[in-house]
Amino acid sequence: MSVVNFDRLRSVTDIPDHAVRILEKPERQIMLNLTLIRANGDLLEAPCSVVYHCTCRGPAKGGIRLRAGVTLEHTQELAELMTWKTALSRIPFGGGKSSIGLDPATLDPLERAAVFKEFVHMIRLDLDSGAYIPAPDMGTTPRDMAVIYGETHRLECVTGKPPSVGGLPGRKEATGRGVAHAARLAAAEFLKADIRNATVAVQGFGNVGSWTCKFLADAGAKIVAASDIHGGVHRKGGVPVDRMMREFTPRARLEDFGDAVTNAELLELPVDILIPAATEDVITAANAGRIRARVIVEGANGPMTREADEALTALPVVPDILANSGGVIASYVEWRKAKSGSITSSSETYQTIEERIDVAFRDMTAVMRERKVSGRLAAEIVAARELVESLTDRGWIA
Ligand code: NAD
Repeated sequence: MSVVNFDRLRSVTDIPDHAVRILEKPERQIMLNLTLIRANGDLLEAPCSVVYHCTCRGPAKGGIRLRAGVTLEHTQELAELMTWKTALSRIPFGGGKSSIGLDPATLDPLERAAVFKEFVHMIRLDLDSGAYIPAPDMGTTPRDMAVIYGETHRLECVTGKPPSVGGLPGRKEATGRGVAHAARLAAAEFLKADIRNATVAVQGFGNVGSWTCKFLADAGAKIVAASDIHGGVHRKGGVPVDRMMREFTPRARLEDFGDAVTNAELLELPVDILIPAATEDVITAANAGRIRARVIVEGANGPMTREADEALTALPVVPDILANSGGVIASYVEWRKAKSGSITSSSETYQTIEERIDVAFRDMTAVMRERKVSGRLAAEIVAARELVESLTDRGWIA
């Protein structure tokens, strides 16, 4: 199933039928069976895929997911999301994604490097030509991207590299920076309030969630709850974000920083802004009726099911394709830096993220007002206009 609800999009726009037929399925898919002989003589086998969803606006951009059992269908959905995200933030990329079906915990460091070298060998033409530009995703790290760079010797063929290997200052916190900025814009637009007076609950204290908490707390917001997969911490006066950033490790428990709260309770807290920044499908038809937040800002990809989205039409939502676009915007800055050889600071990275999100947010809210539609649909309308223009300019549709 497409991530974008084309029936709904068609009901409010005149998106050409030929554009829908192109955008509702991937443009190209490469299926691979990666094999290696392990140190103990066993054969390691991993099903892999590279999905080009749509490259009408630029090369296929999207991370490599390393996870046992990762499906082609899920890789397709993630690639599709990248098409819409890059179009909405107007960066010159298309949507892509790839996957390696292996459990990272089963690999020793040498095997892991060998897997990425073999992956490069299998898709070398795609990487060398710049047609597909990978980055880290679940299970993959900046060091894996450094291995890819080492095989290609082209800094621009991969992003999310460590700063010591052509990576970008500000990349690791980029998505959280963007989510926090989107929350600030949402408070002003939907609550007519300064972020300094806002109460916020954040589900997920990983890369995206922890940096979102940090930037929002620095801006004066009160983070009243944060959680990870084991549960969370709740404090009416605000959780100690700086101390949590310093002291929290995945082996620790967030409840050690205040009162315990479950993930289900966190989602239902009466806060100004709820930021699901952990994983998909956490707000469903079952709990939608109990959401008491005044605004939702989607840090994670797809945290609300379609049914929840339909049940919460009165609640302003900043959708994932806008709110968590900071990571791919930073990837664009890293790619530009690699191509130009320029030296880029984290403040320049932050500035580009905020500028791109400002433009996308302004256009989304203009469409919301004009067409009386939800934030998600408005963002899709804006991105669809971009995509249709490129499809036309490329001569892919008449
Ligand atoms: P991460 O692995 O660093 O952190 C995930 C956090 O969520 C962890 O705290 C984990 O314990 C928690 N978590 C996982 N499952 C949970 C569950 N069922 N209930 C509650 N908490 C749970 O991952 P991340 O990079 O922060 O990514 C989070 C989300 O943001 C994902 O949906 C990802 O696709 C999306 N995203 C990430 C980036 C990025 O740059 N990292 C960019 C765009 C979108």
